[in-house]
Amino acid sequence: MKRYSAFAIAREGLRYHSGWERAWASPAPKKRYDAIVVGAGGHGLATAYYLGKNHGITNVAVIEKGWLGGGNTGRNTTIIRSNYLQDPSAAIYEKARSLYETMSQDLNMNVMFSPRGLIMLAQTHHEVRGYQRTAQANALQGVATEWIGPEKVKELVPIIRLDGPRYPVLGGLWQRRGGTARHDAVAWAYARACSGMGMDIIQNCAVTGIETEAGQVSAVNTTKGRIETAKLALVVAGHSSELAQMAGFRLPIESVALQALVSEPIKPAMDVVVMANTVHGYMSQSDKGEMVIGGGTDGFNNYTQRGSFHHIEETVRALVETFPMLSRLKMMRQWGGIVDMTGDRSPILSKTPVGGIYVNAGWGTGGFKSIPGSGWAMAELVAKDAPGPLAAAFGLGRFREGRFIDESVAAGVAH
Ligand SMILES: Cc1cc2nc3c(=O)[nH]c(=O)nc-3n(C[C@H](O)[C@H](O)[C@H](O)COP(=O)(O)OP(=O)(O)OC[C@H]3O[C@@H](n4cnc5c(N)ncnc54)[C@H](O)[C@@H]3O)c2cc1C
Repeated sequence: MKRYSAFAIAREGLRYHSGWERAWASPAPKKRYDAIVVGAGGHGLATAYYLGKNHGITNVAVIEKGWLGGGNTGRNTTIIRSNYLQDPSAAIYEKARSLYETMSQDLNMNVMFSPRGLIMLAQTHHEVRGYQRTAQANALQGVATEWIGPEKVKELVPIIRLDGPRYPVLGGLWQRRGGTARHDAVAWAYARACSGMGMDIIQNCAVTGIETEAGQVSAVNTTKGRIETAKLALVVAGHSSELAQMAGFRLPIESVALQALVSEPIKPAMDVVVMANTVHGYMSQSDKGEMVIGGGTDGFNNYTQRGSFHHIEETVRALVETFPMLSRLKMMRQWGGIVDMTGDRSPILSKTPVGGIYVNAGWGTGGFKSIPGSGWAMAELVAKDAPGPLAAAFGLGRFREGRFIDESVAAGVAH
């Protein structure tokens, strides 16, 4: 695989860009792989990448029913942060955030990581107490966040209205190195690196069945034929329950649509990310100038990958009080993705009742930010057949044993 560099751009510029090679191959599936990852979203591709990079397992296929990055990975609002409350969450999200810092160099592709800073607004006294507690917990966990007052919020976000009639801004939890990245580029960068290691990324290939022998996975059936394997990683977000059903077990996951929308492009107006969890909305400005706005999940389980009109109204109405300038903007596009919600709003990285099958799910509304950390931890789980320190707390056993990792404050709103 040729390296991308300033020199390569100059060289290709001189020869009319005729020498670029395909970023990843599109092979037909082989008869057998050492490991198969189902789902070529960010988490599946990162799992494959770290299987190769950290554990030397490269006879791997990533099987995707659509196109890579076409699930939630290509539909999210790209917020990256690690200001969670519980220790296991802070550890895996901070690992991910720190990997984002060097991802463009590590994967040799510009993923446009933009650590522009992120504020979670406190708009009730309850939130003030909650975020001050999180700031203290983050200090102990080594995650750099701080509590800031309303004046500092206004300095960072001049377009904000502090004295809203219902929910005045009382301060915020500020993570200076939180921010955004380009979602497609993250998927593409991992795909290219996996392909470069000799892995097969097989798109337009749905897994339709899972075969087992004596309680151990032996093969998957796909729309492109039967493929044998002894290790199978299910990394399919909102479709996790369907895949688990094929293997004969159930997961404590609910699938719901989560929606987002963007405004028409405007001049630079806000150079940080702002989340307003009380009114349930959040916003950042893209490089193109569009205000990228995220709202809540549908109030019922569904598999609908599209937006709905009442969400535009609900989300924009909620944000207008805090950002009055929004009332003058036209909204351009909206869309939805199927997110996988657990009861404690924390992910599942776990062995399953079937030998050789591992599940990575439950990132719900907030799993873009965790892609590199999740892939790192999942690869370790698959390679060693045992969770490492990052994944240990996120096993399925916690639901049976009542060891919940309650992140309903950090992850209860969509982001
Ligand atoms: C509107 C919206 C906004 C969001 N905003 C944020 C945010 O700001 N920050 C953040 O951190 N997170 C956010 N998220 C959440 C984030 O997008 C997800 O948690 C994350 O992308 C999940 O990645 P994944 O790789 O697990 O899943 P996906 O990207 O959904 O990948 C799973 C893949 O599995 C494939 N698949 C399913 N079934 C099969 C099958 N039978 N055979 C083969 N392949 C199959 C699917 O086609 C899909 O491509 C948001 C999500 C949405 C929908």
